[in-house]
Formats: sequence, structure tokens, C-alpha cells
Amino acid sequence: MDIIEQVSLKPYNTFGVASIAQYFAEIESKKDIDELIAWHQQHDLGYLLVGGGSNLLFKNDYQGLVAHIQLKGKAVIATDSDASYVRAGAGESWHKFVRWTINQGLAGLENLSLIPGTVGAAPIQNIGAYGIELVDRLHSVEAVDLETGKSREFDVAECQLGYRDSYFKSVGLGRYLITAVTFRLPHKPEWKVAYAGVKDKLEGKALSSRLISDTIIAIRQSKLPDPAVIGNAGSFFKNPIMSESAWQVLKDKHADLPGYPQDNQRVKISAAWLIDQCGWKGKKQGSAGVYDKHALVLVNHGDATGADLWEVAESVIASVEDKFALT
Ligand SMILES: Cc1cc2nc3c(=O)[nH]c(=O)nc-3n(C[C@H](O)[C@H](O)[C@H](O)COP(=O)(O)OP(=O)(O)OC[C@H]3O[C@@H](n4cnc5c(N)ncnc54)[C@H](O)[C@@H]3O)c2cc1C
Repeated sequence: MDIIEQVSLKPYNTFGVASIAQYFAEIESKKDIDELIAWHQQHDLGYLLVGGGSNLLFKNDYQGLVAHIQLKGKAVIATDSDASYVRAGAGESWHKFVRWTINQGLAGLENLSLIPGTVGAAPIQNIGAYGIELVDRLHSVEAVDLETGKSREFDVAECQLGYRDSYFKSVGLGRYLITAVTFRLPHKPEWKVAYAGVKDKLEGKALSSRLISDTIIAIRQSKLPDPAVIGNAGSFFKNPIMSESAWQVLKDKHADLPGYPQDNQRVKISAAWLIDQCGWKGKKQGSAGVYDKHALVLVNHGDATGADLWEVAESVIASVEDKFALT
């Protein structure tokens, strides 16, 4: 593992904010992971695992070692009567991996096309889009325990995947470096095209993974800013989930409030609607602001710092809590 000092993190985060890593290294093998663990034991400094940097906000310079995950490789590793099992290294680009599965004639990941970032980060927040979440196609996750250096495999239940959540983001936070992910892709395609916006575009057409993927790419490109043009990390704010009774109280006051019933008598409400109602959509504070076409997306219009973006995020949250009496 080669360690470089004072590396700009601007190319390593999709917000495009300036930040300097005190130390930086590429992680390309198990040997590099062992060296990372040894480095950590010898230094009184932390480390940060970074994939595509599309779900990170650097508020300051990073005092420690940024470990850029570059573990590569993808292959169909098994097939049974129902499904193919596909394994990809954590450092593979998620979107390129999805398109590769489509080129192999495998269906199942098409709805998750064009999500930025890496395969290894996908289980961390159980990525989801257009009616599919990673949990729907996951078989297992391989990871190295950074306390012991030992590799282990997590089955789907052990990953504890929830709405933008997982074991790796909660109880296991910071303990594991995900090295590879295996997906179970059924031979009989289970198309999910009922999602608003997708359904109309595919009405009457012969479905294929490629067509669904192309359609979703076009929809995403029309709605979300391209990080290469406007710095962003996709949806920055999560949709609140509340009890049915709390939702009813809100709904009585705000009849238009969209709510989506979940399990356990809970309701997911639209954070985009709440933020829009507070007048934040399209608003700017210097170079930091909220995207004009999508209220969940925090954007860097140019030279915003991580602190500027964080300040806007906190103001957005405070306005929503204040206006709707949410905590
Ligand atoms: C334009 C845009 C659109 C987006 N759309 C969606 C969407 O539709 N759905 C969705 O769910 N997300 C979306 N996102 C968010 C983001 O793409 C995902 O969260 C993605 O999985 C992050 O991957 P990454 O490699 O960039 O992770 P990073 O930002 O590099 O890291 C995210 C977290 O994972 C940790 N991490 C990274 N790699 C590893 C590893 N190998 N082992 C252990 N920990 C690791 C990091 O330490 C960090 O805590 C979007 C982002 C953008 C910019």
C-alpha cells in the first residue's frame, strides 16, 4: 500500500468540495487491507473508506488516512435452476456493473441503473430506486473485520438492510471493509415497472432489462443533476417515517401531504414535499443550495465548502421541523 501525503479530495467526492486528506492510499488487495490495519495500529489517527464519494460530505480537511477502495473483478460464479449468482469486487463502478449484468443477459438490477458510486458501498445504505432496493437482489456480502483482519461473509438477514440503512451503517459502523458483493439474479425476470413515470414510458412495449435500464437512465438524467456539472450527492434528505396517528394529525392540517403506507402501521412521508413547502426548492445561499428540480438534492453551484453545504442542510431541517412541528 503506497501512502501519499496531502492529497486533494475534490476528485473523490461528487459534491466537488475542496478538502485535503493528510494521508491517502489505494486499496487494491487483501495485502493492502492488512497494511491499512497495521498502519492504523501504529498511528494515533483514523481512516476513512471511500468508494465513489457520492454519499459523503467533507466538512473539513481529513486528518487521517483516506483509503480509496479499488478492489476489482466481476463474474458469474454459479447458476442453479432458478437463478444466476454474480459476484463483484467492492471497487467496481455500480452503474458499469449493472450494465455488464445486462450485457450478460441477466435481469434484476436494471431499476438501479445510473446510481453513482461503487458496488462495495451499495449495501451500506441499501441503495434503492424505482421500486427496487439492493435487498431484493442481494445474496451475500464479503467483508474484512478491521479489528481482527479476518474475512467473513454476511447473508442477507445479517446485513439487516432497511430503508437507506444496514448493519454496516448502524451496529457494525466502521468495523468492516466490504470487499465483494454477490447478487442472486432470477432466470425468470421479475420486472418492476409500476413506478410512476416509468410505467407510462413503457406502456405497450416489449419489456427487456436493457429497455428498462435505458428508460430509467433517461428519467434520472432529466431529474437529477449530473455531479460532473453540478456537485451533489443525490437525495441528501431522507423521507421521515412516522406512526399512522402522527401522519393523520399532519394530514388534517396539510391535506396535500403525500404519505406512503409501510409495514407496522407506519407511513413514509415525502421529505421533498415538506422542503418544497418551506420554500427551499431552487434556493441558494452563496454557492450552496437546493436543486431547483428536486427538493431533496443539496447542490454545490461552484465553490461552496462542505461547511456551507452543511449550513444549508441544517437550515432546511430546522425550517421543516419548525413549520411542521416535527422533531
Ligand atoms: C446524482 C446522484 C444520484 C443518486 N441516486 C441514488 C439513488 O437513486 N438511490 C440511492 O440509494 N442512492 C443514490 N445516491 C447516493 C449514492 O450514489 C449511493 O449511496 C452509493 O451507494 C454511494 O457509493 P459510493 O461508492 O460513492 O460511496 P461513498 O460515498 O464513497 O461512501 C459512502 C459510505 O460508505 C462507506 N464505504 C464506501 N465503500 C466502502 C466499503 N467497501 N466498505 C465499507 N464501507 C464503505 C464510506 O466510508 C461512507 O461511509 C445518489 C448520488 C448521486 C450523486
